[in-house]
Amino acid sequence: MLVNAHTHLDQCWAAKFRPKTPVPFHNWLLRQTRRDQNMLQSETGEKRIQAGIEEGIAELLAAGTTHVGDVTRTGLSVQPLVDSGLSGVIYLDILGLEPNVGDFLLQRATHILDGFRDQAANGRPGSNLQIGLSLNALYNTSFKTVEKIVAFCETEAVPLCVHAAESDQENEALIDGTGLLFDLPGHLGSDLRPEVTEIGVIPTLEKLGVLDLKPLLLHMNYATKDDLDIVKNTGAVIVHCPRASHILKNRPALLRHMLKKEIPVALGTESLALVETLDVRDEAEFAKELHAGMVFAGAIDNMLTGA
Ligand SMILES: [Zn+2]
Repeated sequence: MLVNAHTHLDQCWAAKFRPKTPVPFHNWLLRQTRRDQNMLQSETGEKRIQAGIEEGIAELLAAGTTHVGDVTRTGLSVQPLVDSGLSGVIYLDILGLEPNVGDFLLQRATHILDGFRDQAANGRPGSNLQIGLSLNALYNTSFKTVEKIVAFCETEAVPLCVHAAESDQENEALIDGTGLLFDLPGHLGSDLRPEVTEIGVIPTLEKLGVLDLKPLLLHMNYATKDDLDIVKNTGAVIVHCPRASHILKNRPALLRHMLKKEIPVALGTESLALVETLDVRDEAEFAKELHAGMVFAGAIDNMLTGA
């Protein structure tokens, strides 16, 4: 068993734009969001995204991956993953400060889930896969939509993941209503801004009922020891993606404290738009160097197999 708990296969096409040296998170996010929009609007966009997904799956299989947690904005990775024989969860990405965008994506998710279940009922291959939802992040999703995501996952009994505390600016946006992520929608031409709760990302996720769903918490670089106390005993699993954190100038997650508090941790590569390979063993090697002297290498090896 080899688990890569976080990928974005529909960004494999953007591997050629991978930063070679560390860049600030918000700069990269702004550029990649624009690139994604342009790609989806171009005539050959879907085909090029599909070709990237096929290459990404081939790389996962060549690395010996057995289980994957893929976040898909386009939904285009669903069928190729079903056909691949891989196990795991395909998380349909939901976001949008405009409630109608969230509603549209949730409707599409319902449609994809129904189709997936119909195929399963007819004995299709890929029954080792599940469909889930991804709450992309609190700074780019209206809380009305977050409530609907939570209700959807409860009603349909499907898993959830969320990008959480990846950047320190997430807390700044939520607590103070300031900072680069707070202003990001303006740079993308929107008048809307993220909601302000005056509390950090993890307490907000708790308040909105997200933690009750035992989500995969992606990144968690800026989760504090107090945040980890909230997370422990919820059944949530943290996905550590140290190479992506490094290239985006985010601080390394408090892995030693996560393990000390007995919170389950998995490893994920994130996307080829950020890291060189989808081989999660490369992520483990990077993590071992990063946390040398603080975390036993054997504990990191265990994360590869979900032990
Ligand atoms: Zn991600």
